[in-house]
Parts: sequence; C-alpha cells; structure tokens
Amino acid sequence: MNDQKSAEWTTLEERCRDCRACALGATRTNNVFGTGDRESPLMFVGEAPGADEDAQGIPFVGRAGQLLDKYLLVTDLPRDKVYIANILKCRPPHNRDPEESEQDACIVHLREQFRLIRPRVLVCLGRIAAMRLIKPDFRITREHGQWFCKNGVWMMAVYHPSALLRDPTKREDMLRDLQEVRRKLEELGCAPMIEEASE
Ligand code: SF4
Repeated sequence: MNDQKSAEWTTLEERCRDCRACALGATRTNNVFGTGDRESPLMFVGEAPGADEDAQGIPFVGRAGQLLDKYLLVTDLPRDKVYIANILKCRPPHNRDPEESEQDACIVHLREQFRLIRPRVLVCLGRIAAMRLIKPDFRITREHGQWFCKNGVWMMAVYHPSALLRDPTKREDMLRDLQEVRRKLEELGCAPMIEEASE
C-alpha cells in the first residue's frame, strides 16, 4: 500500500473514532471501524456491532462472528485475508435494528472504506445490509446466494451468522453460498490473491 493510501486510511479511522454524527456516538464503548486485509478483493458488510464487538472494537468477534470464522476457514477465505465491516460503526442499544437515519449518517464511512479497498466482490451479511447495499426490497430467504452486479462489483447476500445460530437449518445454504463466493473469485482471477496472501 502506498503512503498516500495509508494516510487516507489513518484519516478515515480517526474521523470514525471521533464521529458523533448520530446519537449512537454517545452510547458506544468503542467505534468498530473494520478489520482485515485492506487490499483484499473480497469485502463482507454486516449491519452493526453487537455487545462483544462494542467491547472489543472489532467486528464479528462474538458467537456469531466465531461461527462466521468457521465458514470462512472451510471455504478457504481466511478472515485475515478478507475485509469485514458493518454499515454502522457504533452499537445500537439492546442490539436493535439500525434506524434509517443512523444508516444515512454512517454510510459515508463505509463508502470511503469501499473506495479505498475497491473490492471485486462484496458479500452482505444479512437482510439489513442487503436492503441497504443491493436493493431496498431484498428478500433474504429467496435471494441469498444470488449475484447482482453493480458498477463492475459482484454483490451477494448471505444469511447473517446470528440467523444461523437461531436456525441451524440455514447452515447448508450458508456453506453453499460461500462456496459460490469462492468460485466467483476464481472466475475473476482473484482467488490467487487470497492464496498468495495466506502463504
Ligand atoms: S454510528 Fe456511525 S454516524 Fe453514528 S456516531 Fe457512530 S460512526 Fe458516527
């Protein structure tokens, strides 16, 4: 990564850390910026941090995150070789769904992350991220695993890992969808980037 890009990342991270653009800035413990490889061809986006994420300042580290890690491992998409973030950088109280106004306030940070990473493939973790990033009427039970191409970026939604904890019958779908993500990276010639980085 060149110096200019690295400086842009630092500025963005500081801006997020100090952000008070919505009310969640007053109740968070930590700003949960994002984690992983900032040059990865693959980006995952969830909806918002939960209690464990708020405590540690890292996305997807609670039970749901640990389950996600297992799927990433078995589909050969190691967590440290992909980038993971949320639409909201601060935790909504009691893990409620993010409000529209909070998403509107926070999406600028995600857009900047996206601009800096320029992923070839973006995977939405759950319905709320899919409704925001793919299309407003997204139906996760019907449309998970389907590809949508927007401005040259391949986008797919999969179940949120917390949905898999609640309903284990969805786990096979999750495996199949992430295998398809891996296949798409191979088709795009991006899988070697992940493999090289893992060596
Ligand atoms: S949720 Fe986003 S917009 Fe709201 S305070 Fe946190 S970083 Fe800022």
